[in-house]
Amino acid sequence: MPFVRTALALLLLANFAAGQKLTPLATPPNWSSLDRFQNTITKDEFTRLLTQVYAPRDAWQEYFSIADDHVDVVTGPGRPPFRLNFAPDSASAKPVPRYWNPTRSLRGLRIALDPGHLGGQWARMEERWMQVGDNEPVIEGNMVLYVARLLKKELERRGARVSLIRDSDRPATNLRPEKLKSAAVKSLREQGRSINPASIKYESERLFYRTAEIRARAKKVNERLKPDLVLALHFNAESWGNPRRPTLTKLNHLHLLVSGCYSARELSYDDQRYELMLKLLNRSYDKELSVSRAVAQSMARATRLPPYTYKSDTAINVGGSPYIWARNLLANRLFECPVVYLEPYVMNNKEVVDRVQLGDYPGRRNINGTPRESIYREYVRGVVDGLVANYGQ
Ligand SMILES: [Zn+2]
Repeated sequence: MPFVRTALALLLLANFAAGQKLTPLATPPNWSSLDRFQNTITKDEFTRLLTQVYAPRDAWQEYFSIADDHVDVVTGPGRPPFRLNFAPDSASAKPVPRYWNPTRSLRGLRIALDPGHLGGQWARMEERWMQVGDNEPVIEGNMVLYVARLLKKELERRGARVSLIRDSDRPATNLRPEKLKSAAVKSLREQGRSINPASIKYESERLFYRTAEIRARAKKVNERLKPDLVLALHFNAESWGNPRRPTLTKLNHLHLLVSGCYSARELSYDDQRYELMLKLLNRSYDKELSVSRAVAQSMARATRLPPYTYKSDTAINVGGSPYIWARNLLANRLFECPVVYLEPYVMNNKEVVDRVQLGDYPGRRNINGTPRESIYREYVRGVVDGLVANYGQ
């Protein structure tokens, strides 16, 4: 009998786990950990953040039931919802528990710089490599690492405590594509895509450099570094086709991303609903927006770039700035602290290609008739000026 009971319990447990709907490589959410946010937010504030920032265009409706004094969130099939009680008013709201400090000034501010992607030996695999003729290849992962190192010096000079989440092309994750084959098959099956050696190779590589790597970085940030702010550093691109004969474009633009704009489809995943709740409840958004506003302004001034406008509904314009968009990326959703995510310059723009060839240099050089700093120093100045404006010296 004990054996039967154990077997039955195991079977139930397996079904229980199987009933969860999770994105690739996600750990099942621990909903009760959100209990620390009980009575920390009013209904108005919660509703505003949910319906305007995190799950706009009614994406929230199927999974969140908002009552006067609480909200019930769907946790998964056959399980009770997670109930969060609202504070009756902001005066009686309990303090928000979080590892980051929203009141620090730049002196003493703990900043983690996240140079996007891996670069180096992984650049071609992660499709962040292109070469125009005999030029030096343009490698986003290497370029953002260079920016991060310059930026670290400049911010430390102003008293900030800065760490680099990556300081080489060495991945933060121990997983490699070879170890992700079965996860790749599972992911392909869930997406209804065909399963063959080529698709398995492609998907296992993607799960490595995108999913596993970003999950490992988020773990490092949330469990070890616990910074007040993450700056995610990128260069943007328009689709360039063949990396050895890339399409060049006249387009060049700038935008910044904050976490938000989950779609109804994304919210059908248990882990994404949990992560939305954590981000919303720890009130990252206010900080992400105020820092993004200041940095967008200074970046626009430094780079002279026009704003990028999303045509798809994956992003929503927020904060009254044409440069700032809310978008749900793994690389801003998983970091519990505020993340300012920068997307300046189009790497396959003709002028940007030329500036990348010039590399870094002191002073200014003539770029299409205008004296300009190196693209790296211009990027760094844009970020630093914005942080100084937002946090004070
Ligand atoms: Zn990027």
